[in-house]
Amino acid sequence: MTAYENFQNHIAKLNDILNAISILKWDARTQMPPGGAQTRGNQLATLSRIAHEHFAGDETARILDAVEAEITGEDADSYRVRAVRQTRQYYEIVRRIPADLLAKKATLVPVSEHVWSQAKKHNDFASFAPYLQQMLDLAREQADAVGYQEHPFDALVFEYEPSVTASSLEALFEQLKAGLLPLLRAIVNHNRPLEKDLWQYDYPEDKQKAFGLEIAQKFGYDLERGRLDIAPHPFEVSFTRQDVRITTRYNRNYLPMALYGTLHETGHGLYEQGVDSALTRTALTIDFLGQYAVGGTSYGAHESQSRLWENQIGRSRAFWENHFDRLREFFPEQMAGASPDLLYRSVNRVRPSLIRVEADEVTYNLHIMLRVEIEMGLLEGSLKVQDLPEVWNAKVNEYLGLTPPNDSQGVLQDVHWSGGGFGSFPGYTVGNVMSAQFLESAGQQVSGLEDALQNGDYQPLLNWLTSNIYRHGRAYSAGELLERCTGRGLTVEPYLKYLRAKFTDLYQLPA
Ligand code: ZN
Repeated sequence: MTAYENFQNHIAKLNDILNAISILKWDARTQMPPGGAQTRGNQLATLSRIAHEHFAGDETARILDAVEAEITGEDADSYRVRAVRQTRQYYEIVRRIPADLLAKKATLVPVSEHVWSQAKKHNDFASFAPYLQQMLDLAREQADAVGYQEHPFDALVFEYEPSVTASSLEALFEQLKAGLLPLLRAIVNHNRPLEKDLWQYDYPEDKQKAFGLEIAQKFGYDLERGRLDIAPHPFEVSFTRQDVRITTRYNRNYLPMALYGTLHETGHGLYEQGVDSALTRTALTIDFLGQYAVGGTSYGAHESQSRLWENQIGRSRAFWENHFDRLREFFPEQMAGASPDLLYRSVNRVRPSLIRVEADEVTYNLHIMLRVEIEMGLLEGSLKVQDLPEVWNAKVNEYLGLTPPNDSQGVLQDVHWSGGGFGSFPGYTVGNVMSAQFLESAGQQVSGLEDALQNGDYQPLLNWLTSNIYRHGRAYSAGELLERCTGRGLTVEPYLKYLRAKFTDLYQLPA
């Protein structure tokens, strides 16, 4: 056996263990009865320990030494060389994180998440504060262990979005705010009620599901390698490109919840189903730091695809011009007197709100920015945990013009910090910005793309995204993908241009 084959086998086993973990997690979040929680926790802990030992042990070092010697002189840009180089890079980082830090975190997370959910329920930030402090201390410890040049945030955001740093995000946010805040003010000033509220009717769940799945398949989601289930917190997960599952949740009145949940997760799913089959069970379909098997290269790159399909395609005027008639076949009474134009305007209402997951395209990034700014402050020590409710409310007021009536709808609304997920929020905004860059480039490089989308033909777009992004798995970083596809790094102009054009038209704003 060559050293490369030996390396492949070693990583393939890690893939198998991580995929098994993902299946257990999918089951826990969609099918498992509550009684299974405790023993499922044991199963996950055992498998996670096996995965960590398999990768972080000395055997990996010996295997890497041998394969590095064998591939010397090969094309530095090839998948083979990239696979070895990335494995070495992450191996060295994982080895820097002390085992007892990981153990402490693993023990603390379930308790901290439970305390958070109770605190959110009872509007009691004080009871959660000591746990948040412990999670923050562990995050700082991890940042110190991993190492960083400028800001502890850099070491943490690296796990989710290696292409950005605290300082690059600060610059990005300034540019976004300069574009978004005036746009939001103009929209609020031109806000008029719609002539008809479509979400006052009842939309049976089975029909919502059938319509959503039909659109997902039109986008290119392959049900031979996928399925749609219900989850209270929707997500997508892949166990290799051959089995890529999505979830959504239903509201009997508010049709957009399930439809756009499905289309969002479909975007994630298309990415995973589009990974080159040659990369299955290789180092280019593993997140070594997060310890799960995944083809998409970063949180931001993944989110760029979910948001592209959900918002730029699914919430476009052309989308409803193409699919309104079909929706009316499912819901003839509810859609009586409606039109593609009314649907378009109904699914694009902009309104500053307190809750991130309910935010529209214009206000969404403001929710992310305030969270990231707070995380940076906590990590560098300029903000204290006990001051968070006050700081949170001040930022919500500054960006959205609202005051949370309580901490449950304020600083306690998201699960992320209770699980120690510092550094994960920027991926949402980075993904939004990237999605516009990718779509702009696709428009320039694929002749007739706009006409195809006008006619509801999504194949040319899917082909471009697959050959430029999806098939590469994790071979290229998000920054490299942007450079290769668009000729430049992360830049806000295409995104702001898209939002301005769309909402100037929707709200008839002065140009
Ligand atoms: Zn997503």
